[in-house]
Amino acid sequence: MADTIIEFQNVTFRYEGDEGIVLSPAVKDFSLKIGGGEFVAVLGHNGSGKSTLAKLANGLLLPESGDVLVDGMNTKNEDDDIKIKQTVGVVFQNPDNQIVATIVEEDVAFGPENLGIEQSEIRRRVDGALKIVGMYNYRRHEPHKLSGGQKQRVAIAGIIAMEPRCIILDEPTAMLDPVGRKDVMNAIKRLNREMGITVVYITHYMEEACEAQRIIVMDDAKLLMDGTPEEIFSDPEKIREIGLDVPQTCRLAEMLKNSGIKITGNVLGIDELVENIDSLLRGQQNVTSCN
Ligand code: ADP
Ligand code: MG
Repeated sequence: MADTIIEFQNVTFRYEGDEGIVLSPAVKDFSLKIGGGEFVAVLGHNGSGKSTLAKLANGLLLPESGDVLVDGMNTKNEDDDIKIKQTVGVVFQNPDNQIVATIVEEDVAFGPENLGIEQSEIRRRVDGALKIVGMYNYRRHEPHKLSGGQKQRVAIAGIIAMEPRCIILDEPTAMLDPVGRKDVMNAIKRLNREMGITVVYITHYMEEACEAQRIIVMDDAKLLMDGTPEEIFSDPEKIREIGLDVPQTCRLAEMLKNSGIKITGNVLGIDELVENIDSLLRGQQNVTSCN
C-alpha cells in the first residue's frame, strides 16, 4: 500500500447528550489505515457511525480517546487544522446545503479563494475541476436551477478545486435520481483513476460500493468487516444479519445456486455474471449442475 493518508488509532467518540446524559459511543475503539490512491467504500446501517467517521477524518470532530492522523498530522493539533482540511475534503448528502454562490464557477472558486490562491491559478483549478466532473459547460449557469446530480457534481468540483489528496463523500447520491447517481459515481471514479485522489465513499447502495477496491463495513460504532467487494459479499448472510442488502448480481447468483446451478468465480460484476450464465447455457465446464 502507498503511504498512509488517514489513520484511525483506537478511536472512540461520543456525542454529548442533553443534561449530562452519557450516550454510548458513536465510534468505538476504531482502527483503520487508508493508503494514498485507494478507493474505499464504507457501508453500514443507519446510525452505525459512518458520518461520525467522516467528520473525525478531517478534524470536524475530535476523538475522546485514540488519535486520527491525516498525512501524519494529528487532528487534535490545532496548528495543523487548515492543512488537514485542505488534505481531506468532505462532500455531504444534501447538495443544497453546500452551494454558496449564484454562478457555478464562482461557487467552485469559493474554496480556493478562501485559501488565498492567486486569480490565474484559481481559474485553472476551477476549469479543471468542472471538466473532471463534467460540468464545464454549465460554468455560467445558476446552481439552484441545476438538477440534484448536477448540483452535487458542482459541490464535488468545489472540493477538488482545493486540490485535496483525499475526498470523503458521505452518501452524496442519497437524494438523487438514478441518472444523477450514475453521473456522480462516474465523476468520483475519474477523480480516483485520473487524478489519483484517495476516495472514501460512504453509501447505502451496494452496487456503488462494489465499484471500490475495498469495502469497510460498520456495525454499531465498530468496524465489522474490511475486504475486497468479493470478500465482503462472499458471505451474504452475514451482510443481511446486520440489516444490509447484497448487490442484485450477488442475489441472482445466490438464487441460481439455490436452484442447483453451480456458479463459479466472482459474480459481483454484471459482465462476470453474464459470462457465467452464458457458459451455463452453452453447457461449458466452468458451470456445472450440482445435485
Ligand atoms: P450513520 O452515518 O452511520 O447513520 P452517525 O455517525 O450519523 O451514523 O451516527 C452514529 C450514532 O451517533 C447514532 O446513534 C446517532 O444517533 C448518533 N448521533 C449522530 N449525530 C449525533 C448528534 N449530533 N448528537 C447526538 N447523537 C448523534
Ligand atoms: Mg450518515
